[in-house]
Amino acid sequence: MKKYDIIIVGGGLAGLTAAIDSKLKGHTVLVIEKKAYPHHKVCGEYVSNEVLPYLNSLGIFLDKYGAMNINTMQFSTVAGDAVSTHLPLGGVGISRYAFDNILYKKATNLGVKFCFQSALSIQFENAQFEVATDQKGIYTSSIVIGAYGKRSTLDKQLKRDFIQHKSAWLAVKAHYKYAFPSNLVALHNFKGGYGGLSKVESGAVNFCYLANYADFQKEKNIDNFNKNVVSKNPFLASFLKNAEPLFEEPLTIAQISFNSKKAVESEVLMCGDTAGLIHPLCGNGMSMAIHAAKIASELIHKFLADKNYSRIQLNEDYQKEWNFTFRQRLWVGRRVQSILMNQTLSNVALSTAVKSPQILRTLIERTHGKPIQI
Ligand SMILES: Cc1cc2nc3c(=O)[nH]c(=O)nc-3n(C[C@H](O)[C@H](O)[C@H](O)COP(=O)(O)OP(=O)(O)OC[C@H]3O[C@@H](n4cnc5c(N)ncnc54)[C@H](O)[C@@H]3O)c2cc1C
Repeated sequence: MKKYDIIIVGGGLAGLTAAIDSKLKGHTVLVIEKKAYPHHKVCGEYVSNEVLPYLNSLGIFLDKYGAMNINTMQFSTVAGDAVSTHLPLGGVGISRYAFDNILYKKATNLGVKFCFQSALSIQFENAQFEVATDQKGIYTSSIVIGAYGKRSTLDKQLKRDFIQHKSAWLAVKAHYKYAFPSNLVALHNFKGGYGGLSKVESGAVNFCYLANYADFQKEKNIDNFNKNVVSKNPFLASFLKNAEPLFEEPLTIAQISFNSKKAVESEVLMCGDTAGLIHPLCGNGMSMAIHAAKIASELIHKFLADKNYSRIQLNEDYQKEWNFTFRQRLWVGRRVQSILMNQTLSNVALSTAVKSPQILRTLIERTHGKPIQI
């Protein structure tokens, strides 16, 4: 049994960023992550530029790794009506295979400890956390950050509300060889879902889509769904016909919940998707995960350094700051998603949007943050 200042459960973008930031602030940090690096993840792999100043301040420069500069967005309806607009802030295209691994290596070089096991439970007693893993490891700390992503058995153990409800969404992702502009992120609508296309550092094109589970189930498998539903959109039909798959099989995840969650539960500070997932069409989940890690690291540092700053105050401040920073964009994301999934409303909204790039720009601004001030 070993005691750390901070244990981070989950080494995705939120967990790794919090680990790096906290280590740079002088704390002992253990990350418990269930999968070895590098690994692919279901994600659109478009990172909004708003987090680059913060990443740079931690010594992480994504352009060094060949991340694509993306400054244009295209959007199309099921019928193939399309509009393009300049992205107000822009972003970069980088695979999660590369991105998470860059952060992992940085964290390791700084002295962050890693335990590659699955966390099974988090208990808080007498001002101390105890985290138990599937290989009978028990680790203790003053602080636990929950950064284990969208859904985990830990949510059941912590008796979180959202886990009681089933979710209707699944996602599919794979990389392809395909001629595609490196400065473009394209979002194409199809019945019951939408898919994103953008290039990553390897030159591959990432195709990642979110679909309604009921619609998907009717088609029984990915091939049928791609052929009968996704390919109704002419842009996606052309992509699927001409692109060469680089994965043996696409990756899939199900039970993606967009329900509200709390940013603090059972004294655990939740970070990234564990605290709340924005609809992927906004292309902002990774930035939110990284930004939340910054907020958590700063408040935790204050807690560990200042005896007069209580745990109650820490929890209150984190929840407050999380809401202040992210609540509005989550709300806008939910509204946009519900319009997109209602056939009648989406026809009206999309036919208006394709005539006016300004509408699209306003929506992008409302679902993104400003560049993080350092
Ligand atoms: C279809 C889709 C497309 C998306 N596209 C984009 C996009 O283009 N741009 C964007 O910004 N965002 C996008 N997102 C959102 C983005 O992927 C997430 O917001 C982001 O991955 C959140 O990072 P995270 O660190 O919170 O979680 P994750 O990256 O999911 O990391 C969680 C980590 O915890 C580990 N873990 C889980 N349970 C345990 C356990 N019990 N013990 C130990 N480890 C555990 C997992 O292995 C994982 O490594 C998309 C999401 C979806 C579903």
